[in-house]
Amino acid sequence: MSEQKTKGQLLAEEVFYKKKSAFDLWSAEELSAAKEYCGGYMKYLDDAKTEREAVDASIAMLEKEGFRPYKLGDAIHAGDKLYYNNRGKSLYVLSVGTEDINNGVRISASHIDSPRLDLKQHPLFENDNLAYFKTHYYGGIRKYQWATIPLALHGVVIKRNGESVNVRIGDLPGDPVFCITDLLPHLAKDQNAKTLGTAFTGEGLNILIAAAPYMEEDGKPTPASDKVKLSVMAYLNEKYGITESDFMSAELSMVPAGNAVDIGFDRWLIGAYGHDDRVSAYPSLTAIIENKNSPHTLMCILADKEETGSEGVTGMQCSLMVDLINELAKHLFGNPNVIRANSLCLSADVSAGFDPNYPEVHEKRNASLISCGVAMSKYTGSGGKSSTNDAGAELVSLIRSMFEKDGVLWQTGELGKVDQGGGGTVAKYIAKQNIDTVDLGVPVLSMHAPFEVVSKVDVYSAHKAFSAFCK
Ligand code: MN
Ligand code: MN
Repeated sequence: MSEQKTKGQLLAEEVFYKKKSAFDLWSAEELSAAKEYCGGYMKYLDDAKTEREAVDASIAMLEKEGFRPYKLGDAIHAGDKLYYNNRGKSLYVLSVGTEDINNGVRISASHIDSPRLDLKQHPLFENDNLAYFKTHYYGGIRKYQWATIPLALHGVVIKRNGESVNVRIGDLPGDPVFCITDLLPHLAKDQNAKTLGTAFTGEGLNILIAAAPYMEEDGKPTPASDKVKLSVMAYLNEKYGITESDFMSAELSMVPAGNAVDIGFDRWLIGAYGHDDRVSAYPSLTAIIENKNSPHTLMCILADKEETGSEGVTGMQCSLMVDLINELAKHLFGNPNVIRANSLCLSADVSAGFDPNYPEVHEKRNASLISCGVAMSKYTGSGGKSSTNDAGAELVSLIRSMFEKDGVLWQTGELGKVDQGGGGTVAKYIAKQNIDTVDLGVPVLSMHAPFEVVSKVDVYSAHKAFSAFCK
């Protein structure tokens, strides 16, 4: 017979907060639903390695569910399911509700760009019988992580006549891949003495792409100079109809080759390139699709350029979100200032999961733990909370109550120890428009690495969180 609990034990159960994992809390059915949901997410990861590919993959999902393209100026009616494709690189999804538009819009804003190696505008060169691409890295990378791994080439070339050519080499079975070489340990004495941050340089991130010269019709190497470079251009010219000058109007990137995979004997983790931030984009998309008949007007934003500061016409600092709210106001007879004041936003971005291999950079009590659910960050920033949208306690309470009502597994998460570093999200740009905003996202291990890690239960929790917010 179990002993009766003491008054103190009962009180502790009532007043203490104890973080629990999905494995402590969820039924077998819920756990298997999480694994099944992640099958769709992993497919999305494979299809969407760049922001352009993410826009295409997202539109394909939306069109199946009856969403249709919107142009600025078009009329909007209650019940409309729309998407605005911003230059093929960012996407704004609208599910127009039946309630008064002045009640505000429920916005989720994630990003679909990820750190990578962009090709320069004059990328191609040859040295000592090997051909290379010059790169300029995009976003915050740790350069050493990108050497000696297989890379794939993704992107678009817009020719002089405006014709667009899509390029995608390195992910299909049988495709060649590319790589950056590194020193052998035998000769790395000087390199080993450098710091991790200085041993690899930006200009050193050259991609090995070919090794054989162009062959003349007689089967002999061409007498022309730049023989290997010529064989590369001959291949690209035949396959894509491009010449070297077309690189000047191209957006080509080297991304890690290969598909998303299960990690671990139990298959509860996913390893992939670009969880940051497709792990918010995909759940926010499935949530708006699932809740397209919500009485609220919903907006799901998939932004570009977050990794470089949200600048430019496809970044979150562009006026488009406000422009679309103005269109909603105009066509649904609302006041845009009132709509924004009454709107709510989940700024959806990954959080730094507590890594037992590196406990020294986290403060465990306030870090997000893997498999303990989606993480809400009241503030981000660095130092004395500088450069952060610090969400009001009232907003945190409101969102928390939505989650708890819907049985969403969630936790709070702070980005590392105080003064260890820091980072930001799009939250502050949205808050600037007088929209109450709080950060929410999935804990990630090895964030910004070519192979990032998340837990399937956290991905599913993100979907449930965005869905609760849409209801
Ligand atoms: Mn991010
Ligand atoms: Mn990031």
